Amino acid sequence: MNVLFPDAGEAGKMVGEHGVNLFYHSVAKRKLCCAVRKVNPLQQELAGMQAWITGRRRDQESRSQISLVEDDPVYGLKKYNPMLDWTETDVWTYIREHDLPYNDLHDSHYVSIGCACCTRAISTGEDPRSGRWWWENKDTLAECGLHVSSLARPGEGESGEGI
Ligand code: SF4
Repeated sequence: MNVLFPDAGEAGKMVGEHGVNLFYHSVAKRKLCCAVRKVNPLQQELAGMQAWITGRRRDQESRSQISLVEDDPVYGLKKYNPMLDWTETDVWTYIREHDLPYNDLHDSHYVSIGCACCTRAISTGEDPRSGRWWWENKDTLAECGLHVSSLARPGEGESGEGI
């Protein structure tokens, strides 16, 4: 397993210019933080590859339109989503049946887990993705940019107020 890290110089420059909590200030700054800390390292890791496989599902509210095979202009890859028609129940049934390891936070109502400062537990009935970036407008696409294939660059074409 490869563990990826953000570029220290790029992260330091961003924090120096915008502060350590920039993700609360606006959607654009939140997307900048996600780009520096997540998207750019992954982009480097995927360079030269032809395709990647994700665990995205259509029952996640912001992902209802995904297809089995997509062209991803952010990474220049084919993207395969073989679990697109799985439900959350299907996932947990599979985990239990095959005794797979999982993050203990899931047992405390953390359904979608990202960076600690941008992740919270949710209540029963809330959208599974509502535990991520909950301070942003509801119509903002709740994605970090790793999977936003409709955007030329993470953060472009979106707006919204911070807190
Ligand atoms: S999830 Fe939050 S802390 Fe993590 S990279 Fe995105 S904005 Fe930054």
